[in-house]
Amino acid sequence: MKLYNFLSRKIEDFQPLNPPLVAMYTCGPTVYDYPHIGNLRTFIFEDILQRVLQTNGFTVNRVMNITDIDDKIIKNAAEKGLSITKFSKPFELAFYEDLDKLNLQRPNIFPRATEHIEKMIKYIESLLKKDLAYVVEDGSVYFDISKFTNYGKLSQLDKRELKIGARVAADEYSKENAQDFALWKAVGPDEVGFSSPWGKGRPGWHIECSVMSQEYLGDTLDIHGGAVDLLFPHHENEIAQSEGKTGQQFARFFVEGEHLQVDGQKMSKSLKNFYTLRDIESRNLEPLAFRYLCLTAHYRDRLNFTWESLQAAQNALNNLHNLVRSFEQSGEVEQRYWGKFLEAVNNDLNVPQALAVMYEMLSANLPTAKKAATVLQMDKILGLNLVDYVSRPLQIPQEVQKLLEQREQARKQKDFTKADDLRKEIKKLGFEVEDTTNGPVVRHVN
Ligand SMILES: [Zn+2]
Repeated sequence: MKLYNFLSRKIEDFQPLNPPLVAMYTCGPTVYDYPHIGNLRTFIFEDILQRVLQTNGFTVNRVMNITDIDDKIIKNAAEKGLSITKFSKPFELAFYEDLDKLNLQRPNIFPRATEHIEKMIKYIESLLKKDLAYVVEDGSVYFDISKFTNYGKLSQLDKRELKIGARVAADEYSKENAQDFALWKAVGPDEVGFSSPWGKGRPGWHIECSVMSQEYLGDTLDIHGGAVDLLFPHHENEIAQSEGKTGQQFARFFVEGEHLQVDGQKMSKSLKNFYTLRDIESRNLEPLAFRYLCLTAHYRDRLNFTWESLQAAQNALNNLHNLVRSFEQSGEVEQRYWGKFLEAVNNDLNVPQALAVMYEMLSANLPTAKKAATVLQMDKILGLNLVDYVSRPLQIPQEVQKLLEQREQARKQKDFTKADDLRKEIKKLGFEVEDTTNGPVVRHVN
């Protein structure tokens, strides 16, 4: 299988160091709010990656961190008069709920930052011992990027001027050298913090990922995943810390998903275009329709989210459900289409092309038993939960059935106003009637 590697900026053949095991680390959520749909897009692409690896016979050992300590958590918890755990826990639980609603496989381990403070302190001590870090007067510890010659290799920053990353506030950087980043930040006596050899403080965000990935996956990861906005400074700093400490390559592949935009703009709270899965559900659209929408764009291309595009994805998903309902019991997988599908996903996760192969198969002249088996096989990667629909005829509740009969009666009597009112009532109950030359066809809608 082939994957685009941000280290080489090329598509490369992927082979893990110790097959069939794949050591995969992906940056997890900071639990101070609900994940927004941009975060969710990243998690969906990482889930697809995991499923494609599994389909290729690999056993994926995946770790995803939970950042449950940072400035925003501390600030928001204090404003609400809560401990940081009391404040962040509901958001952590909401994150797990989102994973389930989007049919995302869970990583093997979700390490929490606050449960690895001792390990982070030890890690920072070894960086100090190697003279790659220094302590300043207030008790903060910074990484000295001038001592790490490969700094910038991932983001290719050596070719342009280093500047302070947009994601990290300037106070995360050292006063001595604005490019050095915090490993440990000193805090005041009344602030939330942990005791350390350098005084009370809290870990920097970057050190979390180095410590927790290596703790569970070893010195060298096969794949480190995330989003392009994490390339610099976050992943660059992870490389500096990790390779500085071990002298080994930190990650063999960096795989990063592109941004999601909303109405052609960057998503932000000030533009009021900042959406979560809750906003999608409140408009009666399914989380899996959002998953479907994400499948229609390649993970390295920008995806423009609009409510119209999500509604179109929902319609496509409904049509897919209605189509596969009529299929007979599962038969054999049609190898020709399955082969083409695999070829697409193995080519740097070309899911839009794989989706096109699926539709080509569905409209081909094949026995429906074969179509059923093939679509279910493909859905092991797409993750649209089609198993709930294949060969399962629509169950129409009695209440809806009655309205349908009344509507047929009204149509026969040419009372189209009444028929139309009944159609609206039926729609309220989640069903749509379409009049075809073969009589009315009923569909489930959202
Ligand atoms: Zn990270």
